[in-house]
Amino acid sequence: MNTVDPNRCPLCGQANSCTQADPARKGEDCWCFSTAIDPQALERIAPELRRRACLCPRCAQLLPAEPAN
Ligand SMILES: [Zn+2]
Repeated sequence: MNTVDPNRCPLCGQANSCTQADPARKGEDCWCFSTAIDPQALERIAPELRRRACLCPRCAQLLPAEPAN
C-alpha cells in the first residue's frame, strides 16, 4: 500500500475529479479552485497522503458519501 493514486480521494476512495491529476484535462480549472475546503477534512487525511492526492468534492465539504443505489 505504498502507492498513492492521485485520482482517488484519500478519505473515501472515490474518484476526486481532479483535473490536475488527469493529463487529458491539464490546464483546466479544478473544482477545488472555487470550492472552499473544510480544514477539518484536511485534518482527516493521513499525513502520508497529504499533498499527494486530492480530496473529492464531497469530502472537501464534509458532506456524507454518495448513497449507493
Ligand atoms: Zn472523498
